[in-house]
Amino acid sequence: MTTPMSTARFAAHDARPDLAGRDGSPRPRVGQSPGGGSSHLLVGPIKGKTYSLYGSATTTEPYFTVVAELVEKAVRESGDAARLLAEASRAGRSGRAARRAAMVAGPVVVRLLGEAARRLGAYFAGVGPHRTALPISDRCSATLTMTFEQYLLAAVEIELRNRLNGAAFRTCGEKVAFLPHCLRDLEASCEAKPHGLDVVCLACSDACYVNAISRLLRRHHVRPYIWMNASLGRLLREKPTVTGGFGMLGIACIPELVAGMRRCARAGVPVVGLPLDANRCARWFGEFRPNTVNLERLEQLVAEPTSCRRKS
Ligand code: SF4
Repeated sequence: MTTPMSTARFAAHDARPDLAGRDGSPRPRVGQSPGGGSSHLLVGPIKGKTYSLYGSATTTEPYFTVVAELVEKAVRESGDAARLLAEASRAGRSGRAARRAAMVAGPVVVRLLGEAARRLGAYFAGVGPHRTALPISDRCSATLTMTFEQYLLAAVEIELRNRLNGAAFRTCGEKVAFLPHCLRDLEASCEAKPHGLDVVCLACSDACYVNAISRLLRRHHVRPYIWMNASLGRLLREKPTVTGGFGMLGIACIPELVAGMRRCARAGVPVVGLPLDANRCARWFGEFRPNTVNLERLEQLVAEPTSCRRKS
């Protein structure tokens, strides 16, 4: 979410899906929705370069449940969710700060990190091997070099921001979402077109997560864009002044998402975010690989309380 995914634009030639499980992950299945109903959408488990929210399960629900439990407990212990967010965010900004936080930060953060390492470690098992294999040319990238502790803190930070910003986001007068183009159907000849703030999906494929997400978001009065050209910095500087305020939703891999959410927070924009189920785009693998996202969790994030629902 930190960049308009500029490192990996639409490119038919490198967008062939990896359905053969070349990365060693189980071959993804198509034809069953995450809820078990009929769907053309890909379902996992899938494996990412540094993380997979599936872990050893067949859905990503256990991951989201564990993160919510960890954060719930830490917020109870701390008594101040905003301060906990500030501490977790500060500690997560560098590998050194994150390692230090595991030893000398406030007792709540130390306990939280210890428990997160124990309960979430398996989801981030790829971080160590990835960092060891990083070429020198990539070792200055804050995204590519994130450490294990930073991933844990980022998971916590995303959940905390969603809790703290959720109500403000859902009641904003204008809500927009930026979706990563790596979520589109890699086998389709994408018909998305420039419109409004960026590019919009024209629903050419039922096997496309961007299409499914766009439909879901529109139902909840969130305007979905595929992130191709929009500048987050410019958007945050020139954000629309609308009655009720302007809110943003991001979907991206964990490193990109946490960085983008921080930028929105600094600009005073209510932001919520959902991590991709794994990091599988060209930035990580050198080619696009099909990906998934937890649609039930997305709906929980954007659904307005019944009392606030607009008449359509
Ligand atoms: S459904 Fe939308 S995003 Fe997906 S391939 Fe078609 S136009 Fe592109």
